[in-house]
Amino acid sequence: MKHTLMKLPYELDALGPNISKETLEYHYGKHHATYVKKLNALLENDPKKADLSLEEIIKQCDGGIFNNGAQVYNHDLYWNCLTPNSSKISSDLTNAINRDFGDFDTFQKQFTDACTTLFGSGWVWLSVDEKGHLSIDKTSNADNPLREGKYPILTCDVWEHAFYIDYRNAKPDYLEKWWELVNWDFVSNRFYGCLER
Ligand code: MN
Repeated sequence: MKHTLMKLPYELDALGPNISKETLEYHYGKHHATYVKKLNALLENDPKKADLSLEEIIKQCDGGIFNNGAQVYNHDLYWNCLTPNSSKISSDLTNAINRDFGDFDTFQKQFTDACTTLFGSGWVWLSVDEKGHLSIDKTSNADNPLREGKYPILTCDVWEHAFYIDYRNAKPDYLEKWWELVNWDFVSNRFYGCLER
């Protein structure tokens, strides 16, 4: 299997001004594309792993294949979690958020705090565990909650390359504008999907 760079569900300039075309040219067109290229190159030398899905790579592999495979999966999810269009959270996901965090505002504040306090490069996730409970997870570098048996339904990339062109060091400003782009239809569908897994 040759891994491919996903096609974005919107144009490169569609997320502006919150996330600019220039950021997408680098973040999607160079960083994300390079992870795909490196993953394929590594798999050419390790044919036993060539047929693994990205999810299997995350759960089973280490080293360069894990790092690059996880970064492909993580970025695929990140782009799908964003949209320039308005979107609506489902009542089921709202109910689960209220049950596990108290209310939506508390969830949003905890998620944002997780992003601002993540030291170094990494990702923040809203994940569902095997009992259907939601949690906010912070991971470093390429790591992913799939490694702990959780299924991620929303992610925010807090590597500096996600915001440095538009916001320089002002990570909180990036996060404020990032929330405006979250594709709640996609996240709600992923929540349904994982309950059926
Ligand atoms: Mn990134």
